[in-house]
Amino acid sequence: MNTNRRSFLRLSAIALPFTRVNQLFAKAPVASGPVVISTWDSGQISNAAAWPVLEKGGRALDAVEQAAIAIENDINCCVGLGGNPDRDGHVTLDACIMDEKSNCGAVAFLERIKHPVSVARKLMETTPHVFLVGAGAQQFALANGFKLESGKLSPDADKEYKKWLKKAEYKPVINIEHRQSKGHGPFAPARLDDGSFNHDTMGTLALDAKGDLSGMCTTSGMGFKMRGRVGDSPIIGAGLFVDNEVGAATSSGQGEEVIRVAGTHLVVEFMRNGSSPEEACKKAVERIVNRDPARAKTFQVGFLAINKQGEVGAYSVQPGFAYTITTGDGKGKVVASKSHFA
Ligand code: ASP
Repeated sequence: MNTNRRSFLRLSAIALPFTRVNQLFAKAPVASGPVVISTWDSGQISNAAAWPVLEKGGRALDAVEQAAIAIENDINCCVGLGGNPDRDGHVTLDACIMDEKSNCGAVAFLERIKHPVSVARKLMETTPHVFLVGAGAQQFALANGFKLESGKLSPDADKEYKKWLKKAEYKPVINIEHRQSKGHGPFAPARLDDGSFNHDTMGTLALDAKGDLSGMCTTSGMGFKMRGRVGDSPIIGAGLFVDNEVGAATSSGQGEEVIRVAGTHLVVEFMRNGSSPEEACKKAVERIVNRDPARAKTFQVGFLAINKQGEVGAYSVQPGFAYTITTGDGKGKVVASKSHFA
């Protein structure tokens, strides 16, 4: 996680009744009414936008779309058009949304459109399709009243991109060497100079007063990725999965690892077979780690899940993953995820 870009203190220009990041809850709370959970501490921004919908008895789908709009509007944040560009300097967005009836919509490699989750919802609700990419996704957005934005990088992203351009290489070297030694080509992992992981994806899952679940996932993807690269976030069953009989899950981290195991679908299936949300996330993390335990030390993946009873949980490969839960009193509480590696 890029703590500079991710820090709550950086994001808290707006006065909201948030819990500070350093007041992490040790134990995952269980909700008894509507509940909304979002990845990371910046989930406080998403949850604050989703909560009024849920509190008034609104639909989980509307709540998660509001969560997406709020975080995609935050130019200081990590996703949306304020996110880091690809290695050619263009911000490309990936997002999806899924409702209680297993309707879903997704867009990927979308440029210069501010609210990819809303485009995905429009696709879901007005066409027979579930996934549009690139120029076609942009064309669909424009035809449906979305505005074409300038394509200019945010000041933060511009600074980061210029810094990256000095070396313009994928990191960490150890990961590339490892993959090459195993006969793979170079890869685009996301590790920062300070050793932390540059992951930002915002996923939100909501359970409404009627007991229905919905979710969304939105990202600008891995910073300085190869042009055209798409990660897990817009892929139903990888970055997001909702099954209204069982529960829902979302993910953040190195998308390729999540795609390989159909990560969030796996989490939901573990819950279907009796695991709690945290156990289910842990089992999915173990599935990823066990593919190659040595290499797993070089990347981050975090899963976040909720079941029909409103129980929530998370688990990650590396320490540092967190999520925000809002229920009852409407205040966002940041909870640290347990992790495979200490
Ligand atoms: N999951 C995102 C991707 O692979 C990256 C992230 O979480 O930062 O595109």
